[in-house]
Amino acid sequence: MPIAHLDVDAFYASVAVRDNPELRGRPLVVAGSHRRSVVLTASYEARPFGIRSAMPLHQALERCPDLVVVPPTMELYRTESKEIFALLRSRSHVLEPLSHDEAFLDLGEIAFDEAKALVARFRAEVFRERGLSMSAGLACGKMIAKIASDLAKPDGLLAVEPGEERSFLAPLSVGRLWGVGPKTQARLNERGIVAIADILALDEPTLIDLFGSSWERMRDFAMGIDRRVVSAASETKSISTEETFEYDVTDEHRLLDLLFVQARELAEDLRRENIWARSVGIKVKFADFSLRVRQTSLREPTQSVKAIYHAARSCLQRVRIDGAPVRLLGTRVAALEASPSTQLSLFAPRS
Ligand SMILES: [Mg+2]
Repeated sequence: MPIAHLDVDAFYASVAVRDNPELRGRPLVVAGSHRRSVVLTASYEARPFGIRSAMPLHQALERCPDLVVVPPTMELYRTESKEIFALLRSRSHVLEPLSHDEAFLDLGEIAFDEAKALVARFRAEVFRERGLSMSAGLACGKMIAKIASDLAKPDGLLAVEPGEERSFLAPLSVGRLWGVGPKTQARLNERGIVAIADILALDEPTLIDLFGSSWERMRDFAMGIDRRVVSAASETKSISTEETFEYDVTDEHRLLDLLFVQARELAEDLRRENIWARSVGIKVKFADFSLRVRQTSLREPTQSVKAIYHAARSCLQRVRIDGAPVRLLGTRVAALEASPSTQLSLFAPRS
């Protein structure tokens, strides 16, 4: 069954260029303006300078003094993301978002060629309706669909025909496999395992030595075997919001105020999506970059600002800030359900 992975090209940067056509063709990054801003997205014109997302802005400016820096417009990205997903969702079987600008699509029981034509049409439609280019990968498994769409960037479509999976993967870097991060990749490269095909040449004890209990899954991935389905149930795994402060915050009241604002924002999102959360968590990053995460389960699923705020506040108390400077605070709701599963919450007052 064909699965497509679609991903907007340089999402934030493309939105900026779409709305300000005079920026087209110029090296551009989307980044905040405060002193420790990092590049959120770099346009394709900025990439030849070696500019990548997560790079400190000052470093990007050193590499390209003519760089156009555009501030992020998060609210606009959210709206844009909803519009694009609504468009894709209306025409596919199941849609599973991976982030706000990429998703897996289950195209149902159709022939591969038909799926290919469908995906080409999706890309054209998103471009026509939203003015943004998406790259797409099409395959019979999620991992290969995702790798293919990465390779198709920018503005391309790459289809890996059924039966071609193994030969498609063979020459690619082991780093492309799911579950192989930079550290694992370095460890594999040290042992001469560079291409995915190299994994297939290993015997079982070596595989176990390298990948431990996940060795069979890694071998299957390397062969292109991937039976995971596109799942609507996991469409939204969690919703989160966070804020990095321009100056470190030591005043706990300010943190509580922000938690309330974040709770309100999340409750709004839950209501809009018509889903309920059963878990609330917070993330605190201190000035020394140490990170603390706390979460709590709710007795019943909620969409209420008050319930989310109270849970987040009790998490914050458990972190014991004690006046330590905080640089980032975030709230997250998870364990999302399609309905308030307990009778009681049907009648719970909405705050
Ligand atoms: Mg993208």
